[in-house]
Amino acid sequence: MKCYACFEGEVVPTTAAGRRSRHKAIQNLPVPDDLVIPTCNHCGEQWISPADAKRIDAALEVVYRQELLARVRAVLPDPKDADRIERDLGLSRGYLSRLRTGRKIPSEPLVAILALIHQQPSVLKRVEAMWERPAA
Ligand SMILES: [Zn+2]
Repeated sequence: MKCYACFEGEVVPTTAAGRRSRHKAIQNLPVPDDLVIPTCNHCGEQWISPADAKRIDAALEVVYRQELLARVRAVLPDPKDADRIERDLGLSRGYLSRLRTGRKIPSEPLVAILALIHQQPSVLKRVEAMWERPAA
């Protein structure tokens, strides 16, 4: 198929190393080297049919889950603080331990709040204070 972006190249099934893609909240998720994406051999534009999108999305989802686990493991609290954090974030008891072992895949909001607490432990005190106050 001719490329309708540059009108110079051909769109061909392409595999490559070093590709990156946004997937959900994660920008620059590594794209598997062996994942075939129809790409213009002149300008690099990707031409993705609905069937391609489904296949690519499924492949990226696998990488995405591994990435979420890696990111949450990097910011998990010390086990001695786990009970308190689970309580403050409304998580079931032992949830953080299940993230540590990879038996659970965290949500993006949970990874984000754990990262904030990791970067700035006082965030947890602010969360506690927020829960102590009435809503209005
Ligand atoms: Zn092109």
